Amino acid sequence: MNCDAEGCRSAAVIRIFELHEDGSLVHPMLCEQHALTIIGGYYRKCTENKAPLTRKTSAHFTLACIATCDANDIAFVFLRGEDGTYFPLEMGKLEAWMLGVLLSRRAKTNRPSTHEAMAALIDGLGGGLHEVIIDQIAELDYRAKLQIARSIDVVTVGVRASDGIALAMATGVPLRVDLELISMNTARAARSPVLEAFKRAGRASDR
Ligand SMILES: [Zn+2]
Repeated sequence: MNCDAEGCRSAAVIRIFELHEDGSLVHPMLCEQHALTIIGGYYRKCTENKAPLTRKTSAHFTLACIATCDANDIAFVFLRGEDGTYFPLEMGKLEAWMLGVLLSRRAKTNRPSTHEAMAALIDGLGGGLHEVIIDQIAELDYRAKLQIARSIDVVTVGVRASDGIALAMATGVPLRVDLELISMNTARAARSPVLEAFKRAGRASDR
C-alpha cells in the first residue's frame, strides 16, 4: 500500500490518528518520512511547553495524535492540553491501537467497549469517576490514577495510562497530567537521542 500523502509513492508503514483542535479526525497511513514529519512536529511542540510548574493544577488534556508503526511494538501518543501544553508518551502498540479505535468511533455504538464496561462497573458499585490523572512513569511505563468518589470518601485506583486515557474518553471526565511529569517530559523530549530523528523531521516540516 502506498503512502496517503499526495503524490508520494513510498510504502505506507505508519498509521497516524490525528484529532485536530476543530474536532476533525484524520487517520492516514503514511511512509516513514511523511509520518516523521508529523510526529516530529508534535515532539517540537512538546519541547516548547511554557513552564507548567508555575500553575497550580494541570490543564485538561485530550488525545491529539497516535502513531503506530507496522514494524515496531512501541507507539507514540501525544496529548494536548486546553492551554496548549503538549505531553508525549510511549505505550504498547496494542494499547495505542485501542485508543485509535475509540477515537474513530466516537459515536456511541450498542456494544459497550471494555472501558465503557469499566465505567459502568464503577457506577454500578456506587462510585462516580470524577477525574483521571497520569502521574507516574517507570521506564517507559506510564501510570494513571482514577479518582472515584464514593459516598463521603474518594477511592484512588491505579491503572495503565492507556486505560486511564480510554476511560476518560469513554466517560468524558477530565484527564489531567501531573505537573512534574509534564516538566520532566518537556525536558526529555528536548534531549532524548532516540527522538533526534523525529525532531529533525519536525524541523524539516518548517521549511
Ligand atoms: Zn509518503
